[in-house]
Amino acid sequence: MSAPSSSTPAPSVPVVVLSGPSGTGKTTVVSQLLVESPVTLMKSVSATTRPARVGEIDGQDYYFLSNDDFQTKRQAGEFLECAEVHKSGFWYGTLISEVQRAQDAGGWSLLEIDVEGALNVMQRYPAAVSIFLSSPPDVYERRLRDRGTEDEAVIQRRLQTAEQELTFADRYRYRVVNESLDDAVQEICQILESVEQNHQDRRS
Ligand code: 5GP
Repeated sequence: MSAPSSSTPAPSVPVVVLSGPSGTGKTTVVSQLLVESPVTLMKSVSATTRPARVGEIDGQDYYFLSNDDFQTKRQAGEFLECAEVHKSGFWYGTLISEVQRAQDAGGWSLLEIDVEGALNVMQRYPAAVSIFLSSPPDVYERRLRDRGTEDEAVIQRRLQTAEQELTFADRYRYRVVNESLDDAVQEICQILESVEQNHQDRRS
Protein backbone atom coordinates (compact mmCIF):
# COMPACT_ATOMS: atom_id res chain seq x y z
CA MET A 1 0.00 0.00 0.00
CA SER A 2 1.25 3.47 -0.63
CA ALA A 3 0.53 6.39 1.62
CA PRO A 4 -1.20 9.39 0.16
CA SER A 5 1.07 12.26 -0.74
CA SER A 6 1.27 14.69 2.17
CA SER A 7 1.22 17.60 -0.27
CA THR A 8 -2.28 16.77 -1.55
CA PRO A 9 -4.42 19.81 -0.72
CA ALA A 10 -7.79 19.13 0.90
CA PRO A 11 -10.59 19.60 -1.63
CA SER A 12 -12.99 22.50 -1.16
CA VAL A 13 -16.00 20.25 -1.72
CA PRO A 14 -16.86 17.15 0.32
CA VAL A 15 -15.41 13.81 -0.63
CA VAL A 16 -17.69 10.85 -0.02
CA VAL A 17 -15.96 7.52 0.60
CA LEU A 18 -18.09 4.41 0.37
CA SER A 19 -16.81 0.97 1.15
CA GLY A 20 -17.91 -2.35 2.45
CA PRO A 21 -17.33 -6.04 1.83
CA SER A 22 -17.76 -7.54 -1.63
CA GLY A 23 -21.32 -8.69 -2.15
CA THR A 24 -22.96 -5.87 -0.21
CA GLY A 25 -24.50 -4.50 -3.38
CA LYS A 26 -22.20 -1.46 -3.45
CA THR A 27 -22.27 -1.08 -7.21
CA THR A 28 -26.07 -1.14 -7.36
CA VAL A 29 -26.35 1.27 -4.44
CA VAL A 30 -23.88 3.63 -6.13
CA SER A 31 -25.76 3.54 -9.47
CA GLN A 32 -29.03 4.44 -7.79
CA LEU A 33 -27.36 7.00 -5.54
CA LEU A 34 -25.90 8.84 -8.53
CA VAL A 35 -29.46 9.31 -9.79
CA GLU A 36 -31.18 10.13 -6.50
CA SER A 37 -28.55 12.07 -4.60
CA PRO A 38 -29.66 15.47 -3.29
CA VAL A 39 -26.21 16.86 -4.16
CA THR A 40 -24.25 16.56 -7.41
CA LEU A 41 -22.14 13.46 -6.98
CA MET A 42 -19.43 12.51 -9.43
CA LYS A 43 -18.09 8.99 -9.21
CA SER A 44 -14.34 8.87 -9.21
CA VAL A 45 -13.11 6.45 -11.86
CA SER A 46 -10.36 4.38 -10.27
CA ALA A 47 -7.30 3.07 -12.03
CA THR A 48 -6.61 -0.66 -11.85
CA THR A 49 -4.24 -3.25 -13.22
CA ARG A 50 -6.94 -5.95 -13.23
CA PRO A 51 -8.19 -6.90 -16.67
CA ALA A 52 -11.57 -5.54 -17.77
CA ARG A 53 -14.55 -7.84 -17.26
CA VAL A 54 -17.00 -8.42 -20.06
CA GLY A 55 -19.01 -5.24 -20.58
CA GLU A 56 -16.65 -2.96 -18.66
CA ILE A 57 -15.55 0.18 -20.46
CA ASP A 58 -12.14 1.81 -20.11
CA GLY A 59 -12.44 5.32 -18.68
CA GLN A 60 -15.95 4.65 -17.45
CA ASP A 61 -15.77 1.65 -15.11
CA TYR A 62 -12.03 1.94 -14.50
CA TYR A 63 -8.92 3.21 -16.18
CA PHE A 64 -7.40 -0.15 -17.08
CA LEU A 65 -3.64 0.24 -16.86
CA SER A 66 -0.68 -2.04 -17.35
CA ASN A 67 1.32 -2.70 -14.21
CA ASP A 68 4.16 -0.54 -15.56
CA ASP A 69 1.87 2.40 -16.25
CA PHE A 70 0.26 2.07 -12.83
CA GLN A 71 3.60 2.01 -11.02
CA THR A 72 4.84 4.99 -13.04
CA LYS A 73 1.82 7.02 -11.93
CA ARG A 74 2.29 5.80 -8.39
CA GLN A 75 5.89 6.95 -8.33
CA ALA A 76 4.90 10.28 -9.84
CA GLY A 77 2.53 10.83 -6.87
CA GLU A 78 -0.60 10.82 -9.03
CA PHE A 79 -2.62 8.72 -6.58
CA LEU A 80 -4.49 9.95 -3.54
CA GLU A 81 -4.32 6.35 -2.34
CA CYS A 82 -3.60 3.04 -3.93
CA ALA A 83 -3.45 -0.54 -2.77
CA GLU A 84 -3.13 -4.11 -3.91
CA VAL A 85 -6.69 -5.12 -3.13
CA HIS A 86 -7.90 -8.48 -1.77
CA LYS A 87 -4.40 -9.97 -2.17
CA SER A 88 -5.38 -10.41 -5.78
CA GLY A 89 -2.08 -9.22 -7.20
CA PHE A 90 -4.00 -6.38 -8.85
CA TRP A 91 -3.56 -2.74 -7.93
CA TYR A 92 -6.34 -0.22 -7.57
CA GLY A 93 -5.99 3.49 -6.94
CA THR A 94 -7.79 6.82 -6.75
CA LEU A 95 -6.24 9.41 -9.03
CA ILE A 96 -5.94 12.90 -7.54
CA SER A 97 -7.08 14.19 -10.93
CA GLU A 98 -10.46 12.46 -10.39
CA VAL A 99 -11.12 14.38 -7.17
CA GLN A 100 -10.00 17.52 -8.96
CA ARG A 101 -12.35 16.79 -11.87
CA ALA A 102 -15.36 16.69 -9.53
CA GLN A 103 -14.22 19.79 -7.72
CA ASP A 104 -13.79 21.71 -11.01
CA ALA A 105 -17.33 20.74 -11.98
CA GLY A 106 -18.66 21.86 -8.58
CA GLY A 107 -19.63 18.32 -7.61
CA TRP A 108 -18.81 16.08 -4.71
CA SER A 109 -16.44 13.24 -5.35
CA LEU A 110 -17.72 9.74 -4.68
CA LEU A 111 -15.02 7.17 -4.05
CA GLU A 112 -16.09 3.54 -4.01
CA ILE A 113 -12.94 1.94 -2.66
CA ASP A 114 -11.78 -0.81 -0.31
CA VAL A 115 -11.31 -0.34 3.44
CA GLU A 116 -7.54 0.06 3.25
CA GLY A 117 -7.86 2.84 0.69
CA ALA A 118 -10.72 4.43 2.62
CA LEU A 119 -8.70 4.59 5.85
CA ASN A 120 -5.93 6.33 3.92
CA VAL A 121 -8.33 8.87 2.46
CA MET A 122 -9.86 9.53 5.90
CA GLN A 123 -6.42 10.18 7.27
CA ARG A 124 -5.64 12.55 4.41
CA TYR A 125 -9.06 14.24 4.45
CA PRO A 126 -10.44 14.06 8.01
CA ALA A 127 -13.63 15.77 6.83
CA ALA A 128 -14.37 12.99 4.34
CA VAL A 129 -17.92 11.67 4.51
CA SER A 130 -17.09 8.03 5.11
CA ILE A 131 -19.87 5.48 4.80
CA PHE A 132 -19.54 1.77 5.52
CA LEU A 133 -22.08 -0.35 3.71
CA SER A 134 -22.74 -3.87 4.91
CA SER A 135 -25.48 -6.39 4.41
CA PRO A 136 -27.01 -9.02 6.65
CA PRO A 137 -24.40 -11.86 6.80
CA ASP A 138 -26.48 -14.54 5.07
CA VAL A 139 -27.28 -12.20 2.20
CA TYR A 140 -23.81 -11.21 1.18
CA GLU A 141 -22.29 -14.61 0.43
CA ARG A 142 -25.29 -15.32 -1.80
CA ARG A 143 -24.88 -11.98 -3.64
CA LEU A 144 -21.18 -12.67 -4.16
CA ARG A 145 -21.92 -16.10 -5.66
CA ASP A 146 -24.89 -14.88 -7.71
CA ARG A 147 -22.61 -12.41 -9.51
CA GLY A 148 -20.88 -15.43 -11.04
CA THR A 149 -17.83 -13.39 -12.03
CA GLU A 150 -15.27 -15.00 -9.72
CA ASP A 151 -14.04 -18.54 -9.20
CA GLU A 152 -14.25 -20.33 -5.83
CA ALA A 153 -10.74 -19.41 -4.66
CA VAL A 154 -11.43 -15.73 -5.31
CA ILE A 155 -14.79 -15.95 -3.53
CA GLN A 156 -13.15 -17.55 -0.47
CA ARG A 157 -10.50 -14.83 -0.40
CA ARG A 158 -13.13 -12.14 -0.65
CA LEU A 159 -15.20 -13.69 2.15
CA GLN A 160 -12.13 -13.69 4.38
CA THR A 161 -11.38 -10.07 3.49
CA ALA A 162 -15.01 -9.17 4.14
CA GLU A 163 -14.79 -10.56 7.66
CA GLN A 164 -11.67 -8.51 8.34
CA GLU A 165 -13.24 -5.43 6.75
CA LEU A 166 -16.28 -5.64 9.04
CA THR A 167 -14.00 -5.01 12.01
CA PHE A 168 -13.22 -1.57 10.54
CA ALA A 169 -16.84 -0.47 10.30
CA ASP A 170 -16.64 1.72 13.38
CA ARG A 171 -13.83 3.79 11.85
CA TYR A 172 -16.37 5.23 9.40
CA ARG A 173 -18.53 8.23 10.24
CA TYR A 174 -21.67 6.45 9.02
CA ARG A 175 -22.76 2.84 8.78
CA VAL A 176 -25.58 1.69 6.55
CA VAL A 177 -27.00 -1.84 6.35
CA ASN A 178 -28.22 -2.76 2.88
CA GLU A 179 -31.28 -4.87 3.64
CA SER A 180 -33.34 -3.18 1.00
CA LEU A 181 -31.78 -1.22 -1.87
CA ASP A 182 -34.27 1.65 -1.71
CA ASP A 183 -33.91 2.06 2.05
CA ALA A 184 -30.12 1.99 1.90
CA VAL A 185 -30.07 4.62 -0.87
CA GLN A 186 -32.56 6.78 1.03
CA GLU A 187 -30.47 6.56 4.17
CA ILE A 188 -27.36 7.67 2.30
CA CYS A 189 -29.32 10.52 0.65
CA GLN A 190 -30.33 11.72 4.12
CA ILE A 191 -26.71 11.59 5.27
CA LEU A 192 -25.65 13.68 2.26
CA GLU A 193 -28.46 16.14 2.86
CA SER A 194 -27.40 16.73 6.45
CA VAL A 195 -23.74 17.10 5.42
CA GLU A 196 -24.79 19.59 2.75
CA GLN A 197 -26.77 21.53 5.35
CA ASN A 198 -23.76 21.71 7.69
CA HIS A 199 -21.53 22.68 4.79
CA GLN A 200 -23.84 25.56 3.88
CA ASP A 201 -24.21 26.68 7.51
CA ARG A 202 -20.43 26.89 7.83
CA ARG A 203 -20.15 28.95 4.66
CA SER A 204 -22.87 31.46 5.63
P1 5GP B 1 -13.63 -5.09 -8.49
O1 5GP B 1 -12.40 -5.74 -9.04
O2 5GP B 1 -14.67 -6.09 -8.07
O3 5GP B 1 -14.18 -4.03 -9.41
O4 5GP B 1 -13.20 -4.30 -7.18
C1 5GP B 1 -12.51 -4.96 -6.18
C2 5GP B 1 -12.34 -4.06 -4.99
O5 5GP B 1 -11.50 -2.94 -5.31
C3 5GP B 1 -13.64 -3.46 -4.42
O6 5GP B 1 -13.65 -3.70 -3.01
C4 5GP B 1 -13.50 -2.00 -4.71
O7 5GP B 1 -14.14 -1.21 -3.72
C5 5GP B 1 -11.99 -1.81 -4.64
N1 5GP B 1 -11.54 -0.61 -5.34
C6 5GP B 1 -12.02 -0.10 -6.50
N2 5GP B 1 -11.38 1.01 -6.82
C7 5GP B 1 -10.47 1.25 -5.83
C8 5GP B 1 -9.51 2.28 -5.58
O8 5GP B 1 -9.35 3.23 -6.33
N3 5GP B 1 -8.75 2.15 -4.47
C9 5GP B 1 -8.90 1.13 -3.60
N4 5GP B 1 -8.11 1.12 -2.52
N5 5GP B 1 -9.80 0.15 -3.79
C10 5GP B 1 -10.57 0.19 -4.90
